[in-house]
Amino acid sequence: MAATAVARHGASIALACRVFGVSETCYRYDPKLRAENEEIADLLTGLTDACKTWGFGLCFLHLRNVNYGRDYTASLVADIVAARAGDGCPQCGEPMRMSRGVEVGNIFQLGTRYSEALGCTFLDEQGESHPIIMGSYGIGVGRLLGCIAEEHHDERGLCLPPAVAPYPIHLVLLSGKTGVADAAASELADALTAAGLEPLFDDRNEYAGVKFADADLIGLPLRINISERSLKQGSVEFKPRAGGEVFLVPLENAVEAARAMVG
Ligand SMILES: [Zn+2]
Repeated sequence: MAATAVARHGASIALACRVFGVSETCYRYDPKLRAENEEIADLLTGLTDACKTWGFGLCFLHLRNVNYGRDYTASLVADIVAARAGDGCPQCGEPMRMSRGVEVGNIFQLGTRYSEALGCTFLDEQGESHPIIMGSYGIGVGRLLGCIAEEHHDERGLCLPPAVAPYPIHLVLLSGKTGVADAAASELADALTAAGLEPLFDDRNEYAGVKFADADLIGLPLRINISERSLKQGSVEFKPRAGGEVFLVPLENAVEAARAMVG
């Protein structure tokens, strides 16, 4: 009877737990605590019966003139304060340091709350049925990008680390009059893609300055510029996004050199 009352009036568990000074969360999930606090179940049964008699909902019930000591005692009495910088660690005594953080992900230990409600069970070695123990684990992809931007940027834009960049290389074509650069850039784009280094290929009809500014803003790890001028020396320009000067790499070595840097 008591157990049925608890199950039927989950909302009033909070009230009963408050009366007996027991943490509601612990009471819900800790069978030992439930066994030790039969008076909570008894109170719920009593309240349920009373409410049925008087015809109102248990969750609207409030208790008046309740006195600590006379009507209930707490199982735990403690000083509880908001922690401040410099407070001692309860485990090792070291002073606490406060710093700003970002909730990049979170976990929720759901226990058997939902599996019980939904009848989601498994059979153990003895063939006995148990509710599965559930957890919810999340990583905020948008927040993650925000954190990366905060840590990896300069005044011109993002400086994405290779591990998280959507493309390892920003291939910038600086088209000339002859079309030589266009053909070489397309070939290089194909060769990079074949080597597993698919580039973001900027073949727009824009000024070099516009393309470079966009590449810096997007922040891919390596920019490769290909132009008639560099091709006259049989080379392309490499420019690492996170610091480092422009340097020339022979066109035939470009894929290998790129792999060494961002592969
Ligand atoms: Zn500590």
